[in-house]
Amino acid sequence: MPSIRRFAGGSLILCALLSALPGLGQAEVKRGSTARAPKGAEAARRAKAKKKTQGCKREKPKSFLIRKNYLKNGGLPKALRFRAERYGWVEGAGLEGFAQHSAISQAADTTFMGLPIRVHKKIVPKLRCVERTIRTSCNGRGKRYVPKAIGGFRESNTFRKGEVSNHMFGIAIDIDPDRNPCCGCVDPWPSHRYCQNGAKSVYEKTELTRCWIDAFEQHGFYWLGHDSLEDTMHFEYLGDPDR
Ligand SMILES: [Zn+2]
Repeated sequence: MPSIRRFAGGSLILCALLSALPGLGQAEVKRGSTARAPKGAEAARRAKAKKKTQGCKREKPKSFLIRKNYLKNGGLPKALRFRAERYGWVEGAGLEGFAQHSAISQAADTTFMGLPIRVHKKIVPKLRCVERTIRTSCNGRGKRYVPKAIGGFRESNTFRKGEVSNHMFGIAIDIDPDRNPCCGCVDPWPSHRYCQNGAKSVYEKTELTRCWIDAFEQHGFYWLGHDSLEDTMHFEYLGDPDR
């Protein structure tokens, strides 16, 4: 959900073994191949490549943590309990019984795509994985996106009726609200030009590229563009951070 921000339109609620160089006995070095990197340099390169992918497994959001699912089947209490047990309690949500520490006391300052952001410390590695995937995959035309402003932890709730924003747990990230609107949010969001352009698909209501959205979704983040809120700026980590 977007935070309270002010734009031109008004206030808005808002992823070495020195694996015996693949059979590369000296005798097997291809003829005509260029000079090989020194052994030490090759080992360093392999170690670096291994480190780069450590811990970045593909993950899917847990179904019972997805907003449209728990709203449909009355599973909100279960979803809240899971979040409190994993991330800590949040002020005013009555979740103190499920956790010893508050979520905000476990905040970590980090960066995402070069921009500063505060999130729950348990999702820092998840954001690193998303960032690696983006830097590796989202470079060509139609794939690239350059963020200007991002937001993470928040200490005031933007939901009603017992819902608690995942920003309160520090597991949600908003990217450029002015370029990626929340067409299903309260006024004046629906007036945003991207909500008024007659787009049939939510992917046409955002400047985020499909490549970026896919990168988040590969690592356990859910895009709230899929929700009735069409909150296209918003991604939330819905995997299990302790597994
Ligand atoms: Zn958000």
